[in-house]
Amino acid sequence: MDKLLIEIVEDDAPVRNLITVTLKANDYRYLTAMNGQTALMEAACHNPDIILLDLGLPDMDGIEVIRRIRSWTNTPIIVISARSEDTDKIEALDAGADDYLTKPFSVAELLARLRVTQRRLSQAALEPGADAVFRNGKLRIDYAAGCAYLDDEELKLTPMEYKLLCLLSRNAGKVLTHNYIIQNVWGGGGESNIASLRVFMATLRKKLESQPDAPQYIQTQIGVGYRMLKL
Ligand code: CA
Repeated sequence: MDKLLIEIVEDDAPVRNLITVTLKANDYRYLTAMNGQTALMEAACHNPDIILLDLGLPDMDGIEVIRRIRSWTNTPIIVISARSEDTDKIEALDAGADDYLTKPFSVAELLARLRVTQRRLSQAALEPGADAVFRNGKLRIDYAAGCAYLDDEELKLTPMEYKLLCLLSRNAGKVLTHNYIIQNVWGGGGESNIASLRVFMATLRKKLESQPDAPQYIQTQIGVGYRMLKL
């Protein structure tokens, strides 16, 4: 793959400089924007591979920037926010962001998130469209047959557990919020369902993970949701 082009949207100069220096040192190309309007224009003109977006911008809310970008492109957006509240992360993810980093963040953390997103991009480029079979570590899901296997052994999943596993696998690498999962698995919403989601997740992990307390495949994003990791 050619050098990836990263758009950095950040009004805080020291943070912006830290990111540009990091990207330059790690062989990424980049462009910068200091406010929401410029961010939208740059994204439309240069079609970046990944967007790093600060939520607190001088001219418009970062959530609005996500919504507008999502109206025309699926370019991965990683939110970088000083807001540590879970509700902001959830709002950003529900608006279409792929991942988030909370300030202050480490350079290693930023690079790790970029690698995860990059892997997802190259995966999507290699296997366009909806694939019939998903592979991740020892996990294999045959979507057409409606079966999941671990080490070639079929997992005995309930329909809900299977649906949950499929949703996470089709979005591997991406953080899915509790609400997003509930909407897509149960079709309904509501806070009360988070408790049942946790129960289904616990039973799914017991079947999927060799150590359910230290899950390899499905990571918990505390207070936010879950993410399937690419092994
Ligand atoms: Ca800011």
